Amino acid sequence: MRKQRVLVTGGSGFLGSHLCDRLIKDGYDVICVDNLFTGSKDNIRHLLGHPYFEFIRHDMINPIYVECDQIYNLACPASPKWYQKDPIYTFKTSVFSAMNCLGLAKRTGARILQASTSEVYGDPEVHPQPESYRGCVNTIGIRSCYDEGKRAAETLFFDYHRQHNVDVKVMRIFNTYGPRMDIGDGRVVSNFIVQALKGEDITIYGDGLQTRSFCYIDDLIEGMVRLMNSRDGFTGPVNIGNPSEFTIKELAEMVIKLTESDSKLVYEPLPSDDPIQRKPLIDLAKRELEWKPEIGIIEGLNNTIDYFKGII
Ligand code: NAD
Ligand code: UDP
Repeated sequence: MRKQRVLVTGGSGFLGSHLCDRLIKDGYDVICVDNLFTGSKDNIRHLLGHPYFEFIRHDMINPIYVECDQIYNLACPASPKWYQKDPIYTFKTSVFSAMNCLGLAKRTGARILQASTSEVYGDPEVHPQPESYRGCVNTIGIRSCYDEGKRAAETLFFDYHRQHNVDVKVMRIFNTYGPRMDIGDGRVVSNFIVQALKGEDITIYGDGLQTRSFCYIDDLIEGMVRLMNSRDGFTGPVNIGNPSEFTIKELAEMVIKLTESDSKLVYEPLPSDDPIQRKPLIDLAKRELEWKPEIGIIEGLNNTIDYFKGII
């Protein structure tokens, strides 16, 4: 029997490269599509040359014609620094990549998973956030290109499902961290670890009392694969994240302790529309996917610190 062929868009990014590793390990035939906007060949270098791994440099704003059984749509700049660099391009990527993947799924009959985000909840007024919460997003702010792009992509997924019976799965991903985070993309975990290891000041935006809930990469990928292979008719959206919630100041203090750094905390202005609190409710994932995160913040941070020690 031929191997199941899987398309991963955004496959040379942080999440995508870990997903490709997992799919190759599980015996799939993987097509990784990426335009290397924020991703890097270094993330998939070890897979290049594998007989069941194929890399295609392609911009998902344009349609792609391949044959496949499953599609994971991850292509999209994901850190505020990169998605705000060219917001129109971010919005186009989010919407057109979703539409092109859905068209492909419609033609091939492939099952398709969308990497959506907790950002669809915006700056949430409901805490913690269940999937039924419809969010509080500023349509015209500096984060909107990403938030609204992802919301529009979710809309397309459910319209293709209702109108064309496409087999869709929508995953709302909460802040994820781990090895292969881009060293310079400005996300908080990578920033703090690199600053601590270099003995530089740790930059806290605002008063540091805003919260996030951090999920380790291996847990996230497990949830993603479980969702793709979940029962027929289960579409989500489903939150995948670690409900352990920390203030950004607490995160900074943990990083300083674990790296034994003498870096000092410095306070910088909070960017506009930066969400004040974020924590997933994961009852649905527990029930439908029998999934819950296994890796705590200390273990996860230590693994990530080891990774950054190896590259800086
Ligand atoms: P990343 O920037 O490392 O990966 C995104 C990948 O998409 C990169 O390899 C980039 O080159 C590629 N890409 C961007 N635009 C493209 C285009 N037009 N055509 C083809 N490829 C393109 O980010 P990540 O953290 O790995 O995020 C992956 C996905 O997961 C994104 O869709 C993101 O929105 C979603 N997500 C991530 C997080 C997180 O905490 N990391 C949270 C919520 C959602
Ligand atoms: N943040 C910070 N210092 C940094 C980078 C980020 O205080 O050097 C804050 C940021 O303002 C936000 C939180 O950390 O409140 C998480 O930021 P990140 O960009 O990692 O993720 P997102 O805001 O998209 O959840």
